[in-house]
Amino acid sequence: MPELPEVETTVRGLRPPLEGRRLTRVETRRADLRRPFPADLRQRMTGARITGLGRRAKYGLIETDRGDVMIFHLGMSGRWRIDPSEIGAHDHLVLETDEGRTLSLCDPRRFGSVDLVRGEDLAGFGPFKALGPEPLGPDLTGAYLAKALEGRVAPIKAMLLDQRIVAGLGNIYVCEALHMTGIAPTTMAGRIARGRLDRLVDSIREVLAAAIEAGGSTLRDYARPDGELGYFAKQWRVYGREDEACHCGTMIRRRVDGGRSTFYCPKCQK
Ligand SMILES: [Zn+2]
Repeated sequence: MPELPEVETTVRGLRPPLEGRRLTRVETRRADLRRPFPADLRQRMTGARITGLGRRAKYGLIETDRGDVMIFHLGMSGRWRIDPSEIGAHDHLVLETDEGRTLSLCDPRRFGSVDLVRGEDLAGFGPFKALGPEPLGPDLTGAYLAKALEGRVAPIKAMLLDQRIVAGLGNIYVCEALHMTGIAPTTMAGRIARGRLDRLVDSIREVLAAAIEAGGSTLRDYARPDGELGYFAKQWRVYGREDEACHCGTMIRRRVDGGRSTFYCPKCQK
């Protein structure tokens, strides 16, 4: 499942073929993904010039010179393909640029989505309304977390996964950042000292930046025909490593809450 770093890597990979280009063809090849494609997507995007690409939480943003923003979410299995050799059954949206590049949004399980909003309405877009600060942006600080978590009795892990507190943080990155900071995932959120929250913010940025860098190092693969954006393998500190040794020598443990796995080191994390 694509997490924030995969979406960021995807956006960076889409910039070279799309930024500054005019779309000469916009084709939806079925009516819907998780929800219907906007009825006027083709009309509003065809002929438009792409002025910028960005990201908010796990959504990619494609801005046009007409003031529209196409918002995509990769769902469980979505990915963009660049110059695919052929359009397959799972390529549900196809864009062509005035340079002759082809980009297809391939989503076999169709949990992704595509929306189109006016730029001035972006903050009011449903999923963006209650989002907390971006983890890589200037608004996420130890001071912010201290205020947001004040008096909260829920475990820190659940709080960090709450998109209203921090936008776009997924399970892998929360497990990794808590391990890096030495905070047990079950620690009551409101009880964590300010100094540890400062270090937690640093850890969150560090694990995300490392993953984006790992994705970036695979970006040159996307330049070739049939390149696929969105997924890369990474070696984690604790995630997915149950019963393997932590760097301290202790076995990494896994616990499951509400169907979600938490990986942690009982010695390093208190
Ligand atoms: Zn350890």
